[in-house]
Amino acid sequence: MTNIAFIGLGNMGLPMANNLLAAGHTIMGFDLSADARAALVAGGGSAFETVADAVAGADVVVSMLPSGAIVKAVYEGDGGVFKNARSGALMIDSSTIDVATARDVAQEAKAHGFDMVDAPVSGGVGGAAAGTLAFMVGGTASAFSKASPVLDPMGAKIVHCGASGNGQAAKICNNMLLAISMIGVSEAFNLGRALGLDDQTFYDVAANASGQCWSLTSYCPVPGPVPTSPANNDYQPGFATALMHKDLGLAMEAVASAGANTPMGHLAADIYAGMNDEGHGNVDFSGVIKKLAGEL
Ligand code: NAD
Repeated sequence: MTNIAFIGLGNMGLPMANNLLAAGHTIMGFDLSADARAALVAGGGSAFETVADAVAGADVVVSMLPSGAIVKAVYEGDGGVFKNARSGALMIDSSTIDVATARDVAQEAKAHGFDMVDAPVSGGVGGAAAGTLAFMVGGTASAFSKASPVLDPMGAKIVHCGASGNGQAAKICNNMLLAISMIGVSEAFNLGRALGLDDQTFYDVAANASGQCWSLTSYCPVPGPVPTSPANNDYQPGFATALMHKDLGLAMEAVASAGANTPMGHLAADIYAGMNDEGHGNVDFSGVIKKLAGEL
């Protein structure tokens, strides 16, 4: 089994590390939070006081961190991964970060002689605990084939999206589409209600017509038609507005640097930024239906 350093043991990282432990790997963890380190030890991992100590004996380094700036500091800093990892170690960053930083850090990894992939996830905390995350992976074919068996105990689907940064590109394109489709579904329900249409009736029509999409049939923003959707639980996340706001910010950075034309993406980013700035970051992102109806 493999010696894996795991950096960033938060809501996502800890259950992911626990699934690697359950698969028989040795986990050497680091997090700034002493509580997070203690939680890893309670599950059978070892915790270290610095990044350098955690990675020194590792064949693979996995990170699950909040932002691109933190990922860059953890990998490229003086006490960081690149200066302290074993030669030949594989690097896997599963954080959701901007495409440009992902490409930049992968380039630095190459300059230090390491293979690195970006491997952001979808599936949330539930998927992390169940080991059913979807991984979107960017990097060379050989780095992807080395990373796949490490990702396997944490995921149900692992897709190679192309060169470095393409995993992050796939993630933000998907989430921009998700934001737009959730707003579209919400507007349709709000208009239907204003016209006297019953929610379940509209659902039964649209779910079997050309309006069908995941935001409608798996994550319906009105209570009733899809019993598991957060709308039935007072819009508790689920996928919080704050996280959607973060991902749309990354998408809009990528739009600007690529010069793409995404008017709907911009509007979706503005709507979720408004919701977040008004203090609703902890509301599930499907709560946008209430924001659009003027009820939030
Ligand atoms: P979190 O805030 O719960 O965990 C982040 C952890 O990183 C914390 O424990 C923090 O102490 C640690 N950390 C911060 N700076 C550090 C450093 N310099 N060195 C070591 N540890 C450090 O966040 P999360 O929900 O676990 O999210 C992690 C990543 O996963 C983010 O990029 C997020 O966008 C992405 N993501 C989250 C979800 C979700 O549903 N929570 C879903 C998909 C993707």
